[in-house]
Amino acid sequence: MNDDYELLVVGSANADLVVGVERRPAPGETVLGSDLAVHPGGKGGNQAVAAARLGARTALLARVGDDAHGVLLLDAQRAAGVDTVGVLVGGAPTGVALITVDPSGDNSIVVSPGANARLTPEDIRAAGSLLSAARVVSSQLEIPLDTVAEVVRTLRPGARFVLNPSPPAPLPAEVLAACDPLVVNEHEARVILGDDAGEAPEDWARGLLALGPRSVVITLGAEGALTAEGSAGTAVRVPSPKVDAVDTTGAGDAFTAALGWRLGLGEDLPTAAAYAVRVGAAAVTRKGAQDSYPTAAELADAVP
Ligand code: ADP
Repeated sequence: MNDDYELLVVGSANADLVVGVERRPAPGETVLGSDLAVHPGGKGGNQAVAAARLGARTALLARVGDDAHGVLLLDAQRAAGVDTVGVLVGGAPTGVALITVDPSGDNSIVVSPGANARLTPEDIRAAGSLLSAARVVSSQLEIPLDTVAEVVRTLRPGARFVLNPSPPAPLPAEVLAACDPLVVNEHEARVILGDDAGEAPEDWARGLLALGPRSVVITLGAEGALTAEGSAGTAVRVPSPKVDAVDTTGAGDAFTAALGWRLGLGEDLPTAAAYAVRVGAAAVTRKGAQDSYPTAAELADAVP
């Protein structure tokens, strides 16, 4: 079996353009802000960097623009050790998130998907050799749903598919059936389940399993995570280590990448989730998304 990649991430890459403001502008208003900070982001880019920093053999399949933001994102991936052979360039500007943050930490965000929206099912079919070299494939929904569905159809037999349906959207049965696991936070669980969600994470897990995924993981912030799988839907709570949280941006992406990688190494779901909550906890102790992700050595120090 050709297992060149322990994790292939198929997803979005964005440049996050961040400006601090005293007050977020009202309609028609102009306010002055701080110097611009540009950070590599996007859920796909985040996941790939998180896994590679931990030591996973990782590749990213994504699309960026033929522009300066695209170069920045590719550089960030390569610096983390991600194989970028699958990153396509051109077709639209690189995706950006325009973020204003006020002193209380509340933000307003406009996302321009740009090149992410042009990652097509055709692109997935053309990347067959990458897909056939991956033990685990991880996706999110910042790329077109048709493209994610094509990923599912193109998976190598025996490869494991992990999906974080963010931003949440109705999922076709074909995609749901491939998820092992479907990884959601509380917000995503509630949106997907609607009025029938119930109040306890165990209820959400049962409701989500009934939609067809092979397994479910629900992240619960400082509470850690809950896993559920099997015909009985047995739920297991995985507590998080206690840390001083500084910035939770991108913690879910680091969690999901770590989870997928460890599952591919043969760990069972609760064991892989126990590793992933340590990675999530380490990530929240530092500012930023990709900047906050630990190496294996930093993980051992931060969350022994
Ligand atoms: P998201 O980042 O998608 O909103 P969560 O808030 O559930 O998702 O966080 C994802 C993971 O990050 C959690 O399962 C946990 O491992 C870690 N995490 C998030 N917030 C904290 C926190 N305050 N303390 C420790 N770990 C945290």
